[in-house]
Amino acid sequence: MSRADRVSDRVVALELDLLLVSSLVNVRYLTGFTGSSGLALVGPERRVFLTDFRYVEQAEAEVRDFDRERFPQQPFTHLAALLGPGALRLGFEDSVLTVAEHRRLREALPEAVELVPAGTPVEAERAVKEPGELERIRAASALADDVYRLQAQRGLVGRTEREVALDLEGEMRRRGAEPSFPSIVASGAHGALPHAEPRDVAIAAGTLVTLDIGARLDGYCSDCTRTWATGPLGTEETELYELVLRAQEAALAAVRPGPSGRDVDAVAREIIAAAGHGEHFGHGTGHGVGLEVHEGPRLGFTEQSDALLVAGHVVTIEPGVYLPGRTGARIEDLVFVTDDGHEVVSGFPKTLTTVG
Ligand code: ZN
Ligand code: ZN
Repeated sequence: MSRADRVSDRVVALELDLLLVSSLVNVRYLTGFTGSSGLALVGPERRVFLTDFRYVEQAEAEVRDFDRERFPQQPFTHLAALLGPGALRLGFEDSVLTVAEHRRLREALPEAVELVPAGTPVEAERAVKEPGELERIRAASALADDVYRLQAQRGLVGRTEREVALDLEGEMRRRGAEPSFPSIVASGAHGALPHAEPRDVAIAAGTLVTLDIGARLDGYCSDCTRTWATGPLGTEETELYELVLRAQEAALAAVRPGPSGRDVDAVAREIIAAAGHGEHFGHGTGHGVGLEVHEGPRLGFTEQSDALLVAGHVVTIEPGVYLPGRTGARIEDLVFVTDDGHEVVSGFPKTLTTVG
């Protein structure tokens, strides 16, 4: 069954005639189109892709299994003409379409077309990867591993966080990828900020440095955090690293088809809480990765993570502990959920690495 067929089954189950796909990444997933302007209509009867003048030629090459339509200026006016005046239940991606777009769409469509919030049916399909997608994610992850290896040789001490971040991203681009998110390089007390911005501050010796990078290659993302030491550490930092590693490996061991994302999160969270640092681990244990660096399923501590893991999910396991004003550590692996357990895809070692 094609991706569009699987989404179409969901469209039918939602009692819709058609789904309007306006998320570009979802359009790419369904049609193969990689440009920056496109819409898709998916249903049991119709598969239509719409783009503007700039992408007609690209769409001819990329979009095979959809009827191709070029809209002049206003896509929704053209869409209305395509749908015609008859009664229709048209689903839309309610976490994607803005309020302004929804208003324009409503104004363009005939009254007989009912606009129905459809949730995230394409994201639901995207969460379970096909073999070809797994290979692309594996390649992106291997590329990021190479970049880490090179950086470990180049050293950290005396260079600024920003220099190191630029270097990491430059190496990704040199290898044909691009960063899947802005790289994080956080040393010393700055390591207590989970999503720290690299600063123009030189990295000191004898501290922890959190590096979090991802590559996007052929559309697919990787995501991997390592925390390195820049020389002999104090007791607090050594113990912190060991605690995070213990929590990370325990959560990793729980990854297999069956448990929910919340169950896996709880494994890491209990270990960190038992060490007295529950309040210093404020984010979820992981997230899905694919065409986007953050996608389903979630592995957190709310009901949003109640979905069960299944084979084909690609998730991160990334607990961290952050001590405000002092230090922080996070360790993140990219993991495939397999039929009988899991496969860790991140390749860089997790034993505390010292990089001077
Ligand atoms: Zn990350
Ligand atoms: Zn992540």
